[in-house]
Amino acid sequence: MLRLTEIKLPLNHTPEELPAAILKKLGVPASDLNGFTIFLRSYDARKKHNILLTYTLDIDIENEAALLARFHDDRNVKPTPDTEYKFVAQAPATLSKRPIVIGTGPCGLFAGLVLAQMGFKPIILERGKAVRERTKDTWGLWRKRVLNPESNVQFGEGGAGTFSDGKLYSQIKDPKHYGEKVLKEFVLAGAPEEILYVAKPHIGTFRLVGMVEVMRDTITKLGGEVRFSSKVETLQRENGQVTGVTLASGEHIEADHVVLAVGHSARDTFQMLNEQGVFMEAKPFSIGFRIEHPQSLIDKARFGPSAGHPILGAADYKLVHHASNGRSVYSFCMCPGGTVVAATSEPNRVVTNGMSQYSRNERNANAGIVVGVSPEVDYPEHVLAGVDFQRKWESQAFVLGGETYSAPGQLVGDFIDGKASTEFGSVLPSYTPGVHLTDLATALPEFAITAIREALPAFDKTIKGFGMHDAVLTGVETRTSSPIRIRRDNETLQSINTKGLFPAGEGAGYAGGILSAGVDGIKIAEAVALSIMSRQG
Ligand code: FAD
Repeated sequence: MLRLTEIKLPLNHTPEELPAAILKKLGVPASDLNGFTIFLRSYDARKKHNILLTYTLDIDIENEAALLARFHDDRNVKPTPDTEYKFVAQAPATLSKRPIVIGTGPCGLFAGLVLAQMGFKPIILERGKAVRERTKDTWGLWRKRVLNPESNVQFGEGGAGTFSDGKLYSQIKDPKHYGEKVLKEFVLAGAPEEILYVAKPHIGTFRLVGMVEVMRDTITKLGGEVRFSSKVETLQRENGQVTGVTLASGEHIEADHVVLAVGHSARDTFQMLNEQGVFMEAKPFSIGFRIEHPQSLIDKARFGPSAGHPILGAADYKLVHHASNGRSVYSFCMCPGGTVVAATSEPNRVVTNGMSQYSRNERNANAGIVVGVSPEVDYPEHVLAGVDFQRKWESQAFVLGGETYSAPGQLVGDFIDGKASTEFGSVLPSYTPGVHLTDLATALPEFAITAIREALPAFDKTIKGFGMHDAVLTGVETRTSSPIRIRRDNETLQSINTKGLFPAGEGAGYAGGILSAGVDGIKIAEAVALSIMSRQG
């Protein structure tokens, strides 16, 4: 197979133009082309009146060796690399202790899946409920203002990204192509095939729920075990080695390999690990608001006359502004055609985030508009001071929202002018259970308010209308990434002071998003397998 890159065609090209472009590029007759598949399709919308599709294609063609020799100086014609996933180990017939995975977010699910595929029969422990029951609890907050602190947007089968836009791209370095394994497993679990080749794939909430169940089923059929309502409350260590875990029920499970994939909201678990002496350090994250605009405004600004084209779908954006007070403001987790969701896991706190369905056809576009904060400057007190910092602003948002789980909100025009909003304009916010209009000036630290006030008009220069008066801000966005890093050894991926403990995924500071968390889960599964094998001698 040959891989051709940088094949550019107009947005509205016909299917026949694709093979024609291959033949033209290689200068061969049609009879030489046996077939091709699309490896990647992206678009270049820098010129709104001439949007181009860019393809990477894998082609089956006659006289491959001769073609490679003819194009040896052309970086766009190369042999297709072998990126097929290969397991690093196969479990022995008998295992003295089964590995434990804590958490069924994308990291824990992929760690569990790959361990199960290698025959290691992992025990996967999840504090929340199975995904269907969890969905009911999540709706409980969104519809009835009732929070279940153990079963919500953050906790339960599938982890934090289950009720999400399901964006599946990441900027991580992935030399071993683990991302491809993640996407292929998602397709086997029911994701649309196009996620394998579109540049910015997404799945949406509805499909994610079903996929998570299929993955659980696969793990169970391979001999793994997935247990819900099984919160790990303590970790046992002896002489710097993990020996087991104790659940909230009091049950003790012995293990010498424990994957810690608890996500960024497991604050009680962070506290427990800190008390147990597991090494961790404070790390930067970001705080801010969600912003909502009409999706049609974003589509028009990005795609001009091609707005609404089915291949382009609902437009996204990515914005950064370096404010004059030294803070950076950027858009985060943009959800085209989606809704803003209530994402707290703790009572009497308000946290925003965004989700969408696969169709992305809701009226509004939403994104976090967030400001970076760091332990050195903003929460230097102690290793978990970042959690205190998040809690402070989440509690403040609860109060500003009227103490009913409504989110405090303000129109962009009023926010910039520094006056409270009293009435919605043309943009109606999507957050449920509701938005309480107020003045957001005290909803975040002053430096963040100042930086966001400066950034919004600046963003308007890139996306015309971004600073529109009636766009709505809701707050607060605090769970952008983990406030801590549980340091691990680069080679064995074990905690630097606790052998057998494998800190993983977003909560431990090693991933940010569904794809990167899944990739980290695969890496960790391999590290666990190799460690078990080396102990078996
Ligand atoms: P998590 O997914 O957080 O999973 C951790 C799991 O561990 C949870 O299920 C939790 O219940 C469990 N757990 C915690 N403590 C314990 C314990 N003590 N015992 C047992 N179990 C425990 N990312 C994207 O890439 N694209 C998106 O479109 C996107 N949208 C998002 C929308 C929303 C509303 C949210 C909240 C997040 C979104 N994210 C998105 C972020 C993404 O979900 C996370 O980056 C990802 O889920 C992190 O994976 P993880 O496995 O490391 O942790």
